[in-house]
Amino acid sequence: MDEVEDRIEAARKLFAGPIAFLRSAPELKFLPEPTAPEVAFAGRSNVGKSSLLNALTGRNSLARTSNTPGRTQELNFFDVGDPLQFRLVDMPGYGFAKAPKDLMRKWRYLVNDYLRGRPVLKRVLVLVDSRHGLKDVDRELMDMLDKAAVSYRLVLTKSDKVKASELAEVHARVVDEARKHPAAHPHVIATSSEKGGGIPELRAAVLDSVTE
Ligand code: GDP
Repeated sequence: MDEVEDRIEAARKLFAGPIAFLRSAPELKFLPEPTAPEVAFAGRSNVGKSSLLNALTGRNSLARTSNTPGRTQELNFFDVGDPLQFRLVDMPGYGFAKAPKDLMRKWRYLVNDYLRGRPVLKRVLVLVDSRHGLKDVDRELMDMLDKAAVSYRLVLTKSDKVKASELAEVHARVVDEARKHPAAHPHVIATSSEKGGGIPELRAAVLDSVTE
């Protein structure tokens, strides 16, 4: 087996093992003790974040979908491995069409405070819908990540929803933009929770981010 296959196999095993919901943190005071590295998932609401977390972990209902603005302004923590290896963090979705201003403000404070005060946070995966590419709300998060000097990686979701040529195009555009951001990883992974494309690679990327 070559090195890439080894990494993919190690990540597969880890994600097939114990994964348990730890807690929700609607405010910083509810964050768990920073006793393990963390990898967080962020993206616009409806980007496919819950589906991707469920596909990564091979579980149907690890992350619950909630499209109700106001109910999703919390960070959800999941313990991976027994003994604990790292934590997955489901960040609140953003960019609701009808989000009231104070909700956006709450999101900004919660996310910014978390990003700036969390040395165990190893990487954020910023999910981007393959049909839409990057939007200004995504760029706002990317700027927050650059300023907080938190390493992040862009991940395309729902790759099965676009033609191969369109996927190549959006991929190239997103890579181009990632290169202009100091804290962004230059490689972009395309995934489909529905068909499984890119899921083993994303598992390996998550494992890399907590071990490198
Ligand atoms: P969230 O709001 O970001 O958690 O998004 P969800 O995971 O709830 O997904 C939003 C919608 O997109 C749902 O109707 C999903 O079934 C659909 N969806 C998510 N991932 C995929 C995918 O990889 N392929 C396709 N075709 N649909 C997807």
